[in-house]
Amino acid sequence: MNSAPIIGVLALQGGVREHLGSLTAAGAQAKAVHSLGDLASIQGLVIPGGESTVMSKLAIQDGLLEPLRQARASGMAMFGSCAGMIMLANQVTDARADQEFIGGIDMSVRRNAFGSQIDSFEMDLEVQGIGGVSFPAVFIRAPWVEEVGPEVQILSTISKGPRAGTIVAVQQGPLLATSFHPELTGDIRIHATFVEIVRQYA
Ligand code: GLN
Repeated sequence: MNSAPIIGVLALQGGVREHLGSLTAAGAQAKAVHSLGDLASIQGLVIPGGESTVMSKLAIQDGLLEPLRQARASGMAMFGSCAGMIMLANQVTDARADQEFIGGIDMSVRRNAFGSQIDSFEMDLEVQGIGGVSFPAVFIRAPWVEEVGPEVQILSTISKGPRAGTIVAVQQGPLLATSFHPELTGDIRIHATFVEIVRQYA
């Protein structure tokens, strides 16, 4: 396939612009996805951080929820950060009762897991497969992963402190998810990893 895959960023709500910038820097043709037509024109999709309850509501309103589920089921590579991780989980704890998901990763995540007193923090993490030094991870009202199925590869866990061992980055085939926000750091290694995944699966 061509060397600059077309990768969309789901633009219902959340940190769209930052992901577009990181994807472009990582060698993709990045494109905001607002409609079915946009969805049909891409080879991979980023689901940004933001608020998963709002994203769910807007996806239903705009008629995008089922098409997103179908794109995922047909093998489109997707990367979810924070709220996007929640959207890609097969099971979510502390979701709103009417909240819907795309699903696809055999994991259980907990919304707003880190608690209100540490709403937002930064931590250097070892992330498998991205090469080089540790990754500066920004967490904002982040979910964590509580359980994963046998096909899920754990890419990163918190290494120290009271939450040591907590899973914060995973991959299952063409699906990648992080509890944190790589688009806010200027470090494009996770986006570059996703561009490679899109090339591999498109
Ligand atoms: N707490 C948000 C949610 O449940 C996620 C926060 C984020 O994406 N920064 O969707």
